Amino acid sequence: AVNRIVHPENTTVRVGNVSIGEGYFTVIAGPCSVESTEQILEIAKSVQLSGATIMRGGVFKPRTSPYAFQGLQEEGLKMLLAAKKATGLPIITEIMNQTQIPLLEEVDIIQIGARNMQNFDLLKEVGKCRKPILLKRGLANTIEELLMSAEYIMSEGNEQVILCERGIRTFETMTRNTLDLSAIPLLKQKSHLPVIVDPSHAAGIRSLVAPLAKAAMAVGADGLMIEAHNDPSRALCDGAQSLDLKQFEELMVDLKRRALFE
Ligand code: PEP
Ligand code: MN
Repeated sequence: AVNRIVHPENTTVRVGNVSIGEGYFTVIAGPCSVESTEQILEIAKSVQLSGATIMRGGVFKPRTSPYAFQGLQEEGLKMLLAAKKATGLPIITEIMNQTQIPLLEEVDIIQIGARNMQNFDLLKEVGKCRKPILLKRGLANTIEELLMSAEYIMSEGNEQVILCERGIRTFETMTRNTLDLSAIPLLKQKSHLPVIVDPSHAAGIRSLVAPLAKAAMAVGADGLMIEAHNDPSRALCDGAQSLDLKQFEELMVDLKRRALFE
């Protein structure tokens, strides 16, 4: 069960040599979408040098418009796996439906996106998998609903769930979403699961990513998921919120300095 009263010890999720939870601060980075082998390799190598320990890259993309770039699908997955092989970094990618589960055999963490947070059949299916699941908070879902969705996964036997606050819809229009900073300590008080923050989708604006990342660290998040791109102005998806590789490196230097200061 997700509830801390029933299960007081913190859960640590392990992927290869990487731990999420247990006092570690784990940074996942990479592009919104895999676009080419060269693109994902360049980004993977660079974010790894900067200190990211898990690489992200979308291949099945949940786009608002059916005419927008939908991701490179299975071809993209091959590119992502090639980058995993080249760097040794564990990888995370989003699943859109249960038919994709067998394709994700070599993927280390399966991401349930905000739009699928209450796709209960999908939650039950990934609950039968024996690999970690990153569960993102829905665009208009409460903390209690997020915890109940985690419960769906865990009730099928998969206890390796990471929660992700990625901003919610509010009346504010200057940001893509509103990062709910209270959710981080609340989720950690109510559950034993690791909690990470995605400041990129919360902000929608590159210049807010670093300040929100530092805020997430300050309120006790177990890590971050950040969109980084080798050429954000040409990104096929979410370029406006993507850090370039130098900006990502600078953010990591800043975060490490803060972590040491504690
Ligand atoms: C993503 O992480 O690529 C994504 C689509 O995010 P979200 O589901 O939070 O909108
Ligand atoms: Mn994105």
